[in-house]
Amino acid sequence: MAKAKKVRDDVDESLIEATDIVSLLSEPGFAEIYDREITQIECREGFELPSVDLSESLPAVLCASSEEPKVDRCKIRLWSDFKPIEGDTLEKVIADIAKCESCDLCKTRNKTVPGAGSSYAKLMLIGEGPGADEDATGIPFVGKAGQHLDKILAAAGFKRDEVYICNVVKCRPPNNRDPKMEEMAVCSQFLQRQIHLIKPCLIACLGNIAVKYVIGPKAPGITRIHGQWFDSVFGIKTMPMYHPSYLLRDNSREKGSPNWEMWQDIKALKQKYDSI
Ligand code: SF4
Repeated sequence: MAKAKKVRDDVDESLIEATDIVSLLSEPGFAEIYDREITQIECREGFELPSVDLSESLPAVLCASSEEPKVDRCKIRLWSDFKPIEGDTLEKVIADIAKCESCDLCKTRNKTVPGAGSSYAKLMLIGEGPGADEDATGIPFVGKAGQHLDKILAAAGFKRDEVYICNVVKCRPPNNRDPKMEEMAVCSQFLQRQIHLIKPCLIACLGNIAVKYVIGPKAPGITRIHGQWFDSVFGIKTMPMYHPSYLLRDNSREKGSPNWEMWQDIKALKQKYDSI
């Protein structure tokens, strides 16, 4: 893991989310199933992570609990265990998602939201889960946050139909709560198939919750690591970015504001994209 040469001096420490967010997302005893080292593989000058002992960031409750998680462990599939399905297609993935009842999110969904975009996308954007507008339409990122994301992508020179946009979980969590780590792990069977079929070169991970799944539960908060490049559970270079709904909370475009930072990140992402 990269060691710090310089800690960002423009970050309000109060904005750095506590890494024990994992404790809010996970059933006791779950973490050891999914635990992984966080590997930073590239950074822009002045943005390198401080050297922190991430092993201390996991809450004790996750490390030493006799309680069994409620989700069936046999349904949890790690990328290292992934076995491609012969003859698989994105259409089959969508059909399997539509009839999936592997977690309780199926009980409250209206429509499944598998993902949308090019089957040959070099870039995959991954959010945490569908919201109300997505649940109503079956299309990812179509609400106000999605429209904001569209503007950001267009401003950077991306066409929405040249990338692939999806979420870790394909059904809306009730009342827009965060998806639990177990739900993400169970649902990842579909994300794994999508990634295997599309074979993106780059992933942009939108928001703290998706980062905890795609990069790892020990990943520091998004305000600290957005815009950096990390190895991901899929072995694909991944940049954490702010979730567009977070950006809607602050209209400022001033230097240092979340929207300004997003603009720096999307420009860096486009530069990398164009170089591939
Ligand atoms: S969230 Fe995923 S695993 Fe859960 S029911 Fe929906 S498609 Fe199945």
